[in-house]
Amino acid sequence: MLGQMMPTQLTITAIMRHALRHHGDREIVSVVADAPLFRTTYRDVFRRASMLAHALADAGVSAGERVATLAWNDHRHLEIYYASSCAGMVLHTLNPRLFPEQIAWIVNHAEDRCLFVDPAILPLAEALAPRLPSVRHWIVLTDTANMPDTPLPGAVSYEAFIEGRAADYDWPDLHEDTACSICYTSGTTGDPKGVVYSHRSTVLHAMAACMADVMGLTQRDTVLPVVPMFHANAWGVPYAAPMVGAKLVMPGPKLADGEFLHRLMESEKVTLSLGVPTIWMALLQYLEAAGKTLTSLQRTIVGGAACPPAIMQAFRDRHGVATHHAWGMTETSPLGTFNSLKQGMDALPEPDQDDIRARQGRGIFGVELKIVGDDGAELPWDGKAFGTLKVRGPWVCSGYFRLDAGTSHDTEGWFDTGDVANIDPDGYIQITDRTKDVIKSGGEWISSIELENTAVAHADVAEAAVIGVAHERWTERPLLLIVPKPGKTVDGEGLRRWFRGKVADWWIPDDVLVVDELPHTATGKLNKLALREAYADHKLPGSDPS
Ligand code: ADP
Repeated sequence: MLGQMMPTQLTITAIMRHALRHHGDREIVSVVADAPLFRTTYRDVFRRASMLAHALADAGVSAGERVATLAWNDHRHLEIYYASSCAGMVLHTLNPRLFPEQIAWIVNHAEDRCLFVDPAILPLAEALAPRLPSVRHWIVLTDTANMPDTPLPGAVSYEAFIEGRAADYDWPDLHEDTACSICYTSGTTGDPKGVVYSHRSTVLHAMAACMADVMGLTQRDTVLPVVPMFHANAWGVPYAAPMVGAKLVMPGPKLADGEFLHRLMESEKVTLSLGVPTIWMALLQYLEAAGKTLTSLQRTIVGGAACPPAIMQAFRDRHGVATHHAWGMTETSPLGTFNSLKQGMDALPEPDQDDIRARQGRGIFGVELKIVGDDGAELPWDGKAFGTLKVRGPWVCSGYFRLDAGTSHDTEGWFDTGDVANIDPDGYIQITDRTKDVIKSGGEWISSIELENTAVAHADVAEAAVIGVAHERWTERPLLLIVPKPGKTVDGEGLRRWFRGKVADWWIPDDVLVVDELPHTATGKLNKLALREAYADHKLPGSDPS
């Protein structure tokens, strides 16, 4: 017997229509080069998305073809999100921080038809253009008055591109399984891989993001996604915010500028903000140095890399802001787990609560989780056993664009995340490492994340990275690299003593190097691969100097 409910398709177009009807006047604030603080509304953004859909169709871009962006978080990028996907085309957000060769590879692999580019990223696009034969249209994200001179063939400004088009578009009735967007993993090992999201997966993910124990997004929120729209769709915020009618604040390119973020948060009365730990480190450092506080922000959501507990404590103790740890990846849309406390946990002593909050959270409804050992057998949820984290669910990828099935999925459809984790009896996961970052010392594993968190808890340490370095007796031993806080000096031996009693003695890094800065990946994470290469020949004290 079948249910008798309407077969309404879960499409992004439905999010747009809902927002137009219920939240048309809700404000969107956008930082763009041609207007430092542009104010618009959902109604206007979706009206312009209609104009853009006409312009794309008139330019000959057809359903299923890829529409690429090299853009920051602003209202025009949001218009492209909706115009392309709702017209049946496939949005392809490119990460401008990748190496140019990687971007060229990705554009050619996806066969992007047109490319929207921010004026600040124009030199990169110009350098790449001769190697991108599939791109037929270049649109610069600015108005006619600010259109720069560019050798890009046939380039037009965005405003000229959409000008004079009808403000209503006959959006097609799409099947919910239609592809809406594609995002490539940054490919720190091997070629980048394209993850193709569907309308259905995106809508379900956005609904899950809004759940009270997840982002808990409401119409009364003002949300500032510091996470870029080219990084796993800004964690779903461009869909979740219009779904509930939250005010959106789009910060443009200045994502790592603590002073700018603080000003924006205060002037727009931001209640919720999302980003990777390095962003929050920059903001907190600025606030500390300038003696400023956050008066409207209520919650931050931190993911993409492990959030050192020191960040969570600084947000809470100095600014009254709750930090929620989340875990996910491009392949999981990205939300997989989210940390909010269970009933009764807020009555626990603060250090116990901190221990729970430092974990990456519980599986969100829709995402099944398990950890498995080397033999593939499932491991217990006892908070001790750790193994490869596998996931399954409607917003987890089932394969990669134009790639034959590889080893990423097992025969039961579980996706291997490449992360090592334990899960406690309450279901909270703790990522101890990426498989390739774990330090294998004498047959045992040392968690680089735990060592980094311990180092960053030291008052004079701004940022820390731990990598395994070859050791003739133990195979690998940990090397700690730290960046001191401005004006502070850190002595390596003193820091090694700091670890005593905080981690097992045999985990204490063999050596500490003080550096001016640490390398980051295009998604703002510590670039461990670059560090491993740079320090491959580093001789640890006490190891054989030959
Ligand atoms: P990239 O490979 O481009 O960095 P993703 O953004 O998809 O791509 O990265 C996903 C990975 O980031 C996860 O597999 C995990 O290793 C790491 N990660 C994400 N969130 C967290 C977190 N809260 N704690 C620790 N690691 C995290």
